[in-house]
Amino acid sequence: MFEKILIANRGEIALRVVRACREMGILSVAVHSTADADAMHVRMADEAVCIGPPQASQSYLHVPSLISACEITGAEAIHPGYGFLSENANFVQVVADHGLTFIGPTAEHIRLMGDKITAKETMKALGVPVVPGSDGGVPDLATARKVAGDIGYPVLVKATAGGGGRGMKLARTPMEIETAFQTARSEAKAAFGNDEVYFEKYLGKPRHIEVQVFGDGQGNAVHLGERDCSLQRRHQKVLEEAPGPVIDAATRQKIGRTCAEAVSKINYAGAGTIEFLYENGEFYFIEMNTRLQVEHPVTEAIFGVDLVREQIRVAAGLPLSFTQDGMRVNGHAIEVRINAEKVPGFSPSPGRITAFHAPGGLGVRMDSAIYDGYAIPPFYDSLIGKLIVHGRDRDEALARLNRALGEVIVDGIDTTLPLFRALLAEPDILSGRYDIHWLEHWLDQARLG
Ligand code: ADP
Repeated sequence: MFEKILIANRGEIALRVVRACREMGILSVAVHSTADADAMHVRMADEAVCIGPPQASQSYLHVPSLISACEITGAEAIHPGYGFLSENANFVQVVADHGLTFIGPTAEHIRLMGDKITAKETMKALGVPVVPGSDGGVPDLATARKVAGDIGYPVLVKATAGGGGRGMKLARTPMEIETAFQTARSEAKAAFGNDEVYFEKYLGKPRHIEVQVFGDGQGNAVHLGERDCSLQRRHQKVLEEAPGPVIDAATRQKIGRTCAEAVSKINYAGAGTIEFLYENGEFYFIEMNTRLQVEHPVTEAIFGVDLVREQIRVAAGLPLSFTQDGMRVNGHAIEVRINAEKVPGFSPSPGRITAFHAPGGLGVRMDSAIYDGYAIPPFYDSLIGKLIVHGRDRDEALARLNRALGEVIVDGIDTTLPLFRALLAEPDILSGRYDIHWLEHWLDQARLG
């Protein structure tokens, strides 16, 4: 096992990894920009190294600084968290070239799944159901018209290098295909330096259901059921739950087994998430994330496992500490993402926190790196905490969420907490009847005033 791990991230996820390390008796090294000198992950880790100025490109994404920080502190492995360098195959290569261990899958697997066209083709060949669409990239407008006509409108134009909903454009009719094709291409070029796009049938009312998988890199893999992340705004998840309100045990088994088999066939190592749209009882693969997800705690809650600990064990060459047979869904968990944003416009709201009180009690987990008097810097993403509740069933989890939302206090800045308080009064949320468009429709009706 490693003696010391460097965490190439910040905020709540850096703290999450520090906590796993401490429980495993591993020393942790935090890195931080000058803007994060007072951050909680810096205070909680065993050591901390300043790696550059506030801009992420010169600190958290600056590979030479991270490698030097490992050399200075003697860290043997790097946990990337999510975001930043977590899905950067070149980084993984550089880490290995310096004799260090990347806590995550191989550079090859990251590359394979990072290109969405290749990922889709690979998954299809592995027996995973995919969204009907173009065979690979769509190179020009003439092909675009032909392919879109064959798929049938509405058609979604997506960037093969895409992420975070960028480079994604909808064409509802043949009239709209030229604009959708061109704007998706230029957006993809600007955001990812790669303008290749592909087409998918646009699903009207799907849910977003994703399956958590874990491989040991030796051909053994386990699935840990699904998470329903249908509550989204601008393709960004807002609330996640496990198990999915519309997925029964037999369906979970079937799709879970398909996913576990797929990753075992490619000898995948570490945590991964296979994302699907789910409509009329059918699953359609959209992408695989080769890292830990923000919403991993809902899975941890219902299966009673520590996914970060497992990532570290697998990276150290140890076998998985759980088997498929030992995986039993226990109750229901819900996570809400607390962002420093002002609703209903969702404009960023950095600044100083004048009072903070974390909720507690049975079945309540708060993963956050904020504290009383902490000033949220304006340079990074707006997630400041995750509130996760666990109950014996969905109703108990909802009641607990309601109770916990009543306890939590974050003063001095605006947060998305009022959004969740309002959502818990909605019959559709209480009954689990929502698809990926539900939240935007609801927000359009300006029920938040
Ligand atoms: P990104 O990597 O940019 O986040 P994804 O492929 O994961 O892109 O899709 C993000 C979200 O976009 C999905 O959760 C869903 O809300 C929507 N989406 C993606 N593909 C389709 C589709 N074929 N039909 C309808 N909605 C889609």
